[in-house]
Amino acid sequence: MNNPFDNAINQLEKALEYVKLTPEQSERLKYPEKIITVNFPVEMDNGQKKLFHGYRVQYSSKRGPYKGGIRFHHQVDMNEMKALAFWMAVKCAVADIPMGGGKGGVEVDPKKLSDKELEKLSRAYVAAIANEIGPEIDVPAPDVNTTSQIMNWMVDEFMRIRSRNQKIGNSEKSRLMATFTGKPLTNGGSEGRTAATGRGGFYVLEALLEKIKPNMKEGRKLTVAIQGFGNVGYYIAKFLYDAGFSIAALSDSRGAIVVNKIGQDSLNPEEVFKCKKEKGSLAGCYCVGSVCDLKLGRNITNTEILELPVDILVPAALENQLNEKNAPRIKANIILEMANGPTTPAADEIFFKKNITVIPDVLANSGGVTVSYFEWKQNLENQKWSEKKVNSLLKDKMTKASLDIFEIARVKQTDLRTAAFITAVRRLTSAS
Ligand code: NAD
Repeated sequence: MNNPFDNAINQLEKALEYVKLTPEQSERLKYPEKIITVNFPVEMDNGQKKLFHGYRVQYSSKRGPYKGGIRFHHQVDMNEMKALAFWMAVKCAVADIPMGGGKGGVEVDPKKLSDKELEKLSRAYVAAIANEIGPEIDVPAPDVNTTSQIMNWMVDEFMRIRSRNQKIGNSEKSRLMATFTGKPLTNGGSEGRTAATGRGGFYVLEALLEKIKPNMKEGRKLTVAIQGFGNVGYYIAKFLYDAGFSIAALSDSRGAIVVNKIGQDSLNPEEVFKCKKEKGSLAGCYCVGSVCDLKLGRNITNTEILELPVDILVPAALENQLNEKNAPRIKANIILEMANGPTTPAADEIFFKKNITVIPDVLANSGGVTVSYFEWKQNLENQKWSEKKVNSLLKDKMTKASLDIFEIARVKQTDLRTAAFITAVRRLTSAS
């Protein structure tokens, strides 16, 4: 199994060949500034107390407060936390937003908890790290298995703790709201946040497509396969479909579906979503236009979807999905990394040699943290922006970041990931 932190450091090492740093500066980038571990009890529904183990990795505050999600997962692992926190620092620098990198998590399978237990756990975790977070210190957000509802409980608990020693007026309340992003719209959240990661990925692809693969289109619709049909997978599928791309295949943790006529028929993500909701699984949801018909497609495995003959492959699920084993069999021309860390360094080398362009996660999925930054800013300034304004600012940020990175890759003759890391290293160290 690939250690994600080793992968992240490997990506960094490649970029360090192009940036002049002192040994201390290089070393600094390889370690988080602070790792917080907390162990806290929660009373379960049966009246017994259970001890939980949680973390918060604060990787870099060089450019602003630590920023990054909180993950609830039974396999929360320190190496994964460190990697995700480091990638957050890189991502914020690439998107050029004034925030650093962080990540947190609790070792728990939330599916085994009642709603009441989940709320108690969320509040207890916040109480345990309350002294280490705040709008100018560290700003958590949702991640795997944490939702806007959980952010609601967390921000409420944080306010409760802060108001013990001081009276909190309305403007102070709005400021403290900025401690968490990804909140519900009704409680300090930002318009456009739910779709932001998918939308941002679409803007990145739009900015780069003609540059990385000129004339690829040749008057036809480009075909796409998307692994993962959760928040990110659904929205990227929807934006690509609306823009005229042909969605050949989709998958979730239980399996994948593909149209029989790749390039001719496209899955309609909204209809597939409705069908999946009704049936409880993607299997059989071959929805083309407004018709879902068993004759239009077939079920395939999660391995097969990655190896389909499509123009663009979009991993939007998990880490380490594209590795030295399957990389030689990948047929797509472009890989748009919407998940964090889906490609191992060994697979990266193979793709580079095969002239497959990888649009890296630290650029492709940075739309989410960018709109989280907008949410933080709106809370701090006690403002509420329209969705139009959020989307337009997001587009500006994503387009600029994409073109900057393309230019560095062109000048330095590197892949886009190395170019993104070069940009981030320069911004994180103020080096040339
Ligand atoms: P999610 O939980 O909403 O969706 C994950 C999807 O992946 C689900 O459909 C799940 O069934 C599917 N999946 C799991 N294992 C799979 C497998 N083996 N094969 C195919 N599908 C599988 O999560 P999300 O928020 O959409 O996040 C997806 C990825 O994007 C993660 O890597 C996450 O870290 C990253 N990401 C998310 C955001 C965000 O704003 N949500 C921002 C940046 C990066």
